[in-house]
Amino acid sequence: MSLLDGQRSVLFVHAHPDDETISTGALIAEFVARDSRVFLLTCSRGERGEVVDGPLTALAGTEELARERELELERATGILGITERFWLGEPPARVDGLEPRRYRDSGMVWIRPGLAGPADDAADDALSVAPLAEVTADIAALIVRLRPSLVISYDDGGGYGHPDHVRAHDAARAATTATGTAFAEVLEAPAGDEEWFDLPQHLAVVTDALRAHASQLTVHGTEIVHSGGQREAIGTSAGLRLHPHPAV
Ligand SMILES: [Zn+2]
Repeated sequence: MSLLDGQRSVLFVHAHPDDETISTGALIAEFVARDSRVFLLTCSRGERGEVVDGPLTALAGTEELARERELELERATGILGITERFWLGEPPARVDGLEPRRYRDSGMVWIRPGLAGPADDAADDALSVAPLAEVTADIAALIVRLRPSLVISYDDGGGYGHPDHVRAHDAARAATTATGTAFAEVLEAPAGDEEWFDLPQHLAVVTDALRAHASQLTVHGTEIVHSGGQREAIGTSAGLRLHPHPAV
């Protein structure tokens, strides 16, 4: 029995616009191809991310950047075939009775190539600074509403250490425990205790969805070029490590 089989609906929890496509675009496309309903919860608008050199450069550091990244995410979501998309802090991804809020991008610094750590100037309303209990409760509110058969987010290292990714993992995992929902972590490299998927058949749709994130990256052939100049191959493989929970 594969984790891909028989999933009625799957909720992906990601920290920033573009993460859903870069790290899980092929998985999303595969669930869609198998007629699972796919939901996406995005925690922040990537307000502190860099901007690709070009016509959008002037948006860096402005409120319009958040708006632009909302539009980009909307386009990518449509290309991937996602059923419905949500922002953390806004109903139904908000505890009933609480005012809606935004969780902002916390920013990051590079500790060494490939490993990020917290920036020392994260704002008070940043995702990684907000109380874990509040973030967890907001994710749990969405889970209760959607009742997905599986929730998927980063591993406990946040993939590469971004503090918002780590927070998204911690809160998503806690929310699945609280609601008795199965949780799986995304692995970028085989570790031996995951189910591994090679999904090259989804390269074209992932590439198209990546192009929607034009303020964050450019696509050159089969490579992503990030706003900071780092290059990586477009990924169509990923692992899922399951943490089952008994029904509550
Ligand atoms: Zn991210």
